Amino acid sequence: MIDCETRLYINGEWREGSAGERFEVVDPATGEVIATVADATVEDAQAAVDAAADAAADWAARSPRVRGEVLRKAFELMTAQEDRLARLITRENGKALPDAIGEMRYATEFFRWFSEEAVRNLGSVSVAPSTGARILVHHKPAGVAVLITPWNFPAAMGTRKIAPALAAGCTCVLKPASETPLTMLALAEILEEAGVPPGVVNILPSQKSAEVSSRMLHDPRVRVVSFTGSTQVGRILLKEAADCVVIPAMELGGNAPFIVFDDADVDAAVAGAMVAKMRNMGEACTAANRFLVHEAVHDEFTEKFAAAMAALKVGNGLEDGVTVGPMVNEKSRAKVASFVEDAVAKGAKVLTGGSAIDGPGYFYQPTVLTDVDPASECLCDEIFGPVAPIQRFSDEDEVIARANSTEYGLAAYVFTGDMKRGLRVSEALEFGMIGLNRGIMSDPAAPFGGVKQSGLGREGAHDGLMEFLETQYISAEW
Ligand code: NAD
Repeated sequence: MIDCETRLYINGEWREGSAGERFEVVDPATGEVIATVADATVEDAQAAVDAAADAAADWAARSPRVRGEVLRKAFELMTAQEDRLARLITRENGKALPDAIGEMRYATEFFRWFSEEAVRNLGSVSVAPSTGARILVHHKPAGVAVLITPWNFPAAMGTRKIAPALAAGCTCVLKPASETPLTMLALAEILEEAGVPPGVVNILPSQKSAEVSSRMLHDPRVRVVSFTGSTQVGRILLKEAADCVVIPAMELGGNAPFIVFDDADVDAAVAGAMVAKMRNMGEACTAANRFLVHEAVHDEFTEKFAAAMAALKVGNGLEDGVTVGPMVNEKSRAKVASFVEDAVAKGAKVLTGGSAIDGPGYFYQPTVLTDVDPASECLCDEIFGPVAPIQRFSDEDEVIARANSTEYGLAAYVFTGDMKRGLRVSEALEFGMIGLNRGIMSDPAAPFGGVKQSGLGREGAHDGLMEFLETQYISAEW
């Protein structure tokens, strides 16, 4: 068993759930139970919303500089505990330690970025053209925010929401994924030490996600729901949010195309593909899901990419040299295996990998497939694992149409030596984020988010702050 906090964090206190129930957290590399965590009920959810609502006026009244300094302190404390928290992420999520350290740096940076954005809540004054009255525009904290996060980035998906909420002057209740609740509970201790007052941040692990979130979204004091997870659950939450017209921010699923043109630097494209596919074992919403490679460079790209994938070291993420950990659980591994079986049944060739690895743990081999039939399930659904299906193309318009033929619109990648083409194709792609000659685009200073059924709103950048602010306009005469 791991030595860490496992109770609910409500109003600055550590509590057992009101029903006294607990659920298990499993290390995906070993299949062993590493902790049991208090399971919040709807009564606990109500207590957390009450605490957040009671703390709201005081937190909103603190000056932006004071709120910013609390966030800056959180950045410093989290940085000092990087190694401990990265190991905790590896234990509960499975990702290899280098990936967990990468996540920690990304996650921590949201506190620094939003400590700086806290003091940039700008309004405006203008003169009404027809009446000469003054138009004063300013932005106020929206109110209590409900934050719901997935298991694939146990730290970053939380800090990407908590930091802007606090910078804006909102208080919040965060429900982490039940696969990975420990990192957010550890963060609560850090936030307390950084000076976050009781009730401003409440952490509510629960296996009763639907009931708990429904109760919170029907409390009229809750004004924002910021969700990261699957499109399927996002749709449910949008419907739940409709009853009290709660402001939705939705970071949902993706189906990212990775396009390599014939004028691309193939070695750079392979290096980019390794990051775009294998960061987090492919368990990322931005993960390259479909490789579309020009026929002139197809064989060279495919051969080099398959060799790089075959050279990866898979294993327990805490072991030296391991860069690929297990899938988060057996269900995820079985889904990945079924995608490969389906593609192979439809004629795909396996260049490397193609099988699960014997237990313990939920490991799957890094896999490259070529000659993938367009009707294969892995091209339509999110793979969310270490499998790369490659297809050929011959024409720019054709590849744009194929890339856009999905209901998702989160991330896309384009590799080309011709920047004019790169920008032209980027503009034509119906995706919220483009990696142009880059295999990674996540950056706290950039607006992260999708179009179409990949989401609503943006996280990070100044846009992330605006998600937690409401605009008020005062028509004034003086
Ligand atoms: P999920 O949708 O199953 O769960 C996400 C969260 O919602 C978890 O906390 C879960 O407990 C909770 N939840 C589940 N059912 C719920 C319900 N009925 N009502 C309220 N809450 C509920 O997603 P996941 O499996 O944890 O994560 C993988 C998904 O997340 C993928 O689709 C991935 O693309 C997406 N994701 C998106 C982004 C992004 O920024 N766009 C980032 C990371 C992950």
